[in-house]
Amino acid sequence: MSTLREKLEQSPDFLVGVELVSTRGTVGEPRAAKTVVFARDLAGNPRIDWVSITDNAGGNPTLAAPALGGPLRDAGREVVIHLSCKDFNRNGLESEAWRLAGEGFRNLLVLTGDYAGAGIGGGAKPVFDIDSVGLLSVLGRMNAGLDVTRATARQPARLEPTQFFPGAAVTNFKLHENEVIPQLLKMERKIAAGARFLINQIGYDARKSHELIAWMQRRGHGAVPLIGNAYVLTPGVARLFRTQRIPGVVISDELAAVCARHESSPDKGRAFFLELAARQVAIYRGLGYRGAYLGGVHQAADVERVLEIERGFAPGDWRQFAREFRYSRPGEFFVFAEDPATGLADPTRLHPDYEASLRTRPATRNVTFSYRFSKFTHGLMFTPGKGLWNLGAKLCASAKDPMQGPPLMHPVEHLGKSLMFGCKDCGDCSLPDIAFLCPESSCAKNQRNGPCGGTRDGKCEVDDFECIWARAYDRLKHEGREEELLAHTPVIQDQNLRGTSSWANTWLGRDHLAKKIPAPLPGAK
Ligand code: SF4
Repeated sequence: MSTLREKLEQSPDFLVGVELVSTRGTVGEPRAAKTVVFARDLAGNPRIDWVSITDNAGGNPTLAAPALGGPLRDAGREVVIHLSCKDFNRNGLESEAWRLAGEGFRNLLVLTGDYAGAGIGGGAKPVFDIDSVGLLSVLGRMNAGLDVTRATARQPARLEPTQFFPGAAVTNFKLHENEVIPQLLKMERKIAAGARFLINQIGYDARKSHELIAWMQRRGHGAVPLIGNAYVLTPGVARLFRTQRIPGVVISDELAAVCARHESSPDKGRAFFLELAARQVAIYRGLGYRGAYLGGVHQAADVERVLEIERGFAPGDWRQFAREFRYSRPGEFFVFAEDPATGLADPTRLHPDYEASLRTRPATRNVTFSYRFSKFTHGLMFTPGKGLWNLGAKLCASAKDPMQGPPLMHPVEHLGKSLMFGCKDCGDCSLPDIAFLCPESSCAKNQRNGPCGGTRDGKCEVDDFECIWARAYDRLKHEGREEELLAHTPVIQDQNLRGTSSWANTWLGRDHLAKKIPAPLPGAK
């Protein structure tokens, strides 16, 4: 049987994956029985190309994915293990990756992960030592044969290369431009960091689904397999999604009304929702996605029914479905103009409002005096070879403690940055990466390589403040530099620098800024 990699890279077939949500407790728990039966049924279903198993979905503790994946793997099925950054630091993730490699799991869906939820004794402490882009680059290094040469070793040492086939998630189902464009730029960073396939977030707007694949093609990523997420709703799940408590998932008023209408039918809308998912699968197939990812299903009969309905459609039916499957929200941002003939995106024309904003580049309230001042000061101090650079480097190099610099420099630095940015003294400063916003103090997940997928109408997934990446986007867009937001090698913070002077670390080339290499912009020659 072909591997998922072979199917995605070599076959023209439209593939089907199914999500299996792990449960709390062992596989022997009575509450796990339904999941175990579902997994067994999926293992025996030749129409399913892979089974994807969640990793503590929603931030809640569950049985680790390999426990459910083992029997599927032993049955010769392709399994995708979700691996997120919320519960393990980089070392924990690396050791988990070694375990997965040893147990024959190669397909991984790499995620930053939801914020940590409640566990034994109360809320769990989230980790987010690295993010999805950082984890993809870690797996890339493992796939290349991890270099474990120590500074003192005479012989270089490399570990056996792993064979991971990592994928990543992407979403453009967002309300505002300063959410959508950073998500698309982050997707490109994920591809650059090694994502070999992409799965989009749950969403219910065919025009947005079309925009995603159109953006990828326009920006030179058309060869990366894109899988469409088709989540089978129930009225109860639609109500839950509507609360926006599931990060990144939105149900518009219009769709909520449709769900409520069908709830009153004798089958509580079951037939309707299965058909809706089948139509969504048909739309993805029609749009050129490489497959569909079925979520919200808990029994084999529902999977079969969705696929059976979809098989029954005529080849061109998806166009009409796409016209109707338009549950965006009023005022929602679109990159491309609407094609009046199809109701989908017209990839040859930007949306008129977006195009106009690219001409005028308005200064939003996020383009503050503090930002301008920080940028000016940073340029003065940290432009290599100019301004105060040489003096700073010289003073720090000759200081008694070069990690702290000359006496009083670090306390002055920390005080000033605490007052202006809420500095947490990480010593590996990302302020210049994020338009002078601090990921340690102002981002719940310490994201250094772009926004997580959880923003709610521009606000942070976790707290009631505007996402730092949306604010950073506004600042750079005003200057015509929004493409630079993530155009560099992945940032992985060096925890060894915590409590040291980041000024000294920058001047002496010890921090991530010294390793940060600008990446060519997509499509640039
Ligand atoms: S500030 Fe933005 S990137 Fe950070 S956790 Fe909140 S939504 Fe995610």
